[in-house]
Amino acid sequence: MNSPMIHALDVHKRFAAVEVLRGVSLDVGKGEVLAIIGPSGSGKSTFLRCLNHLETIDRGHIDIEGETLVGADEKGHCRYVADAGLRRICRRMGMVFQHFNLFPHLTVLENIVEAPLTVKGLRRQEVLPKADALLRKVGLLDKRDSYPARLSGGQKQRVAIARALAMEPDIMLFDEPTSALDPELTGEVLRTIRELAEERMTMLVVTHEMAFAREVASRVVFMDGGEIVEARPAKELFAAPEHPRTRAFLENML
Ligand code: ADP
Ligand code: MG
Repeated sequence: MNSPMIHALDVHKRFAAVEVLRGVSLDVGKGEVLAIIGPSGSGKSTFLRCLNHLETIDRGHIDIEGETLVGADEKGHCRYVADAGLRRICRRMGMVFQHFNLFPHLTVLENIVEAPLTVKGLRRQEVLPKADALLRKVGLLDKRDSYPARLSGGQKQRVAIARALAMEPDIMLFDEPTSALDPELTGEVLRTIRELAEERMTMLVVTHEMAFAREVASRVVFMDGGEIVEARPAKELFAAPEHPRTRAFLENML
């Protein structure tokens, strides 16, 4: 088998006295869509943030597309790759947050082209047609010159997705992309994510949308107390959760 897109082994993360990740191991294959579910405070966001180095880890190993982001050296200390390697590896992952985090002083178009221009150093002529194609893909070409303040939450989140895609990532990480939205706006964002799934984008989606997880995810990961309690095909996990903690969580969600 080809090396997995993401290989996380025994990842530990502590904030002061609290061990927030207590040995998380997960392999994600190319084109897989994983939904990560679990109670608030179980470490879901922290795990995603460790994968793209928004947080450092204390112990464990993370490979992205077969390249080591962080691993133990010969003395057993956790070491990250050197800066250039770190940037290159992290650039393969796009991330979408609950609160969009668009640049408020930039138009929709400028939000999308900003990173390709400044981080990748591409020329405007190359970037603009791609940005328009992405806006068309998320159904917002007509909002190209609007400022974020003029958009609905669902539109903002679709811009945030287009902005992440503009860096041409191989992996997309979503952290509760619909949790800040009014219920009637979640559908348009979930539809965009579903379309990416159909294009075989490798994705990790932290979500409370159980119907979405069941329908779109190839596997569902249940986290609780800084651990992965169960990671199984979506249909199996929802139909017959193996662990009592998973069962209790799912009963609460319904
Ligand atoms: P989840 O996304 O599953 O709700 P988080 O990963 O956000 O959980 O948080 C897990 C735990 O880590 C929580 O107890 C949270 O308070 C704590 N935590 C997260 N980020 C920080 C931080 N930057 N400093 C201190 N504690 C944090
Ligand atoms: Mg979270």
